[in-house]
Amino acid sequence: MVDADLGAVVTGLTPAVRRYYDMERRRLERRRNRVQRFIERPAATFDGRRLEVAANVGSASEVAEAVAAGADGVGLFRTEMLFLARPSAPSEEEQFDEYRRAVADAAGRPVIVRTLDVGGDKPLPYLAWPKEDNPFLGLRGVRIYPEFDALFRAQVRALLRASAFGMLQVMIPMVARLDEAAWVRRVVTDEQAALRAAGVAFDPQMPVGAMIEVPSAALMIGQLSGSLDFFSIGTNDLMQYFAAVDRTNPRLAALADPLEPSFIRLLHQVVTDAHAAGRWVGLCGEMGGQARCLPLMVGLGLDEISLAAPDIAVTRGLVAELSAEGCAALVNRAMRAATGAEVAQILEERGHWREMPLTEPEIVELDVDCRTKEEAIKAAVDLLYAAGRTDRPREIEEAIWRREESYSTGFGHGFAIPHCQTGAAGASSMAVVKLRAGVDWNATDGQPVRTVILLVVREAEQAATHMRVLASLARRLMHEEFRAEVEREQDPAALCRLLWQA
Ligand code: PEP
Ligand code: MG
Repeated sequence: MVDADLGAVVTGLTPAVRRYYDMERRRLERRRNRVQRFIERPAATFDGRRLEVAANVGSASEVAEAVAAGADGVGLFRTEMLFLARPSAPSEEEQFDEYRRAVADAAGRPVIVRTLDVGGDKPLPYLAWPKEDNPFLGLRGVRIYPEFDALFRAQVRALLRASAFGMLQVMIPMVARLDEAAWVRRVVTDEQAALRAAGVAFDPQMPVGAMIEVPSAALMIGQLSGSLDFFSIGTNDLMQYFAAVDRTNPRLAALADPLEPSFIRLLHQVVTDAHAAGRWVGLCGEMGGQARCLPLMVGLGLDEISLAAPDIAVTRGLVAELSAEGCAALVNRAMRAATGAEVAQILEERGHWREMPLTEPEIVELDVDCRTKEEAIKAAVDLLYAAGRTDRPREIEEAIWRREESYSTGFGHGFAIPHCQTGAAGASSMAVVKLRAGVDWNATDGQPVRTVILLVVREAEQAATHMRVLASLARRLMHEEFRAEVEREQDPAALCRLLWQA
C-alpha cells in the first residue's frame, strides 16, 4: 500500500491494516462524491459573489478532463511544455493543431494560452543561450521574444488561427514594463494584418493579457491596461521577485508565505487597479490551489482562480461555504496585520465561513461495521472530513486519543462520547455513529459500545461551550428512556433533533 498522505509504503498488510485502508478509501471517495454536486453549479459564495474556477494545463490533451472536473475554462495553458524535451521547436502547424484542440475541447469556455515562457529554470537546448549568472533575473519569458522573433511570430500566428475556433485568449509571461506589452501588441497586430491579407480566419477581438509576476508590472496596472485586455497573477514568480526568495530553494520555502501582509497588500493593489481600469483579473500561481488562502482570494475580489484540475470541485465546494462580505473584511484585517502568523490566526477565527449547525444528518451514520474502538473513532472523524468540516482529520483523531488515554469516554449503557477541543476543526460538530455490533470501550460498566457520539469543539470557541454541550448530553443520557429513544431512532434528521437543540 502506498500511502502518499503519510509518506509511507506499507507491506505485509494484516487484516486490520487492510480494514484501515478500506476506511481511508471510503473517506476520500465520500468527500469526492460530496463535491461532485458543485461541478454542476457556477462557483459562488453563499452570499452570491461569483468566482470563476479554471484549470492550469500543460497540453491540449488535459482540457477535456479539466472541463469534466468542473473547470470554467483554462486559466493557464503553459505552452512551454510543447517546446521542452524535443530537439527543435514545434512548427506553426503543429501548434495550431494543439491550440485548436484546446479551444474545441473547452467547448465555448475561455482558454488562456500563455506564450512561450522559457529561460530561468527552463532553458531550451535548441536556442542559443548566453551563460547567465542569475538565470531567474536573466533572459526569461517575454524578454527573449525580440531575439527569437521568428519563433515567437510562429506561435502568435498559430494562436490567432486557433482563435477562429473558440474563446482563445493570449497571455504574455514575465512582463516587467510597458514597452514589452506594447511590443507584443504590435506583433499581434502585424500578424493579424498578414492573416487578413492572406484570407485566413481569426478572431479579431482575441484578448491579449499579461501575467503579473514581476513587482514592477504589479505597480503599473493602470498604464498596462492601455495595451492589455486582462491580467492573471502568477504568484510563484511574483513572490520570488517580491520577497527575494528563490522559488527552487526548499530551504527558503517558509519565506515564500502568501499570508504575509505585504504580499496581500500587493495583490490587493493589483486587483483594485485592474478593476478601476475595467480589466478582468485572475490568479494562476500555486496559491490558487491552496485551500487555506481561498478566503483571501475571494476577499481580494479576483474574477478567477486557476489551479490543478483535481482540486477544482473541492475548491468550488469551499467557495460556496464562504461569505464574500466576510472575506473582504478579512483581507482588510490581513493587510493591517504585522506578520503572516497573525494572518493565519485571523483565518482561524472563521468569521467569513457559513455557520454550520452543531449536528446534521450528513454527519450521522447508522449500521456501521467497526471491530474496534479505533475504527469507531476513525469512522466518526471521517464523517467530519467527508462533510467538509475539517481538512485535518488525523489531528482531530490525535486530540481525541489524547483524552481517551487519560480516561475512557465510555459512558456506560452502550454509549460513548469521545470529545476534544481542537484547531483542526473548521466547525464545532457532533457526529453520530451507530455500530452494527458493540465494541469494547473500556467503559466503567464494562458494556460494549454501540452508539458513538463524537463531540469536536473548535479551538477558537470558549472552553465553556465544550463543557456545556458535553454536560447537557451526559445529563440526558443518564435517563434510560432517552437512551432507548436514541437507540431506536433510525432517521438521521430525527436523531439530530433528539440529540441537540441549539
Ligand atoms: C507563476 O509564476 O506563478 C506561474 C503561474 O508561472 P510559472 O509557475 O509557470 O512560472
Ligand atoms: Mg511564472
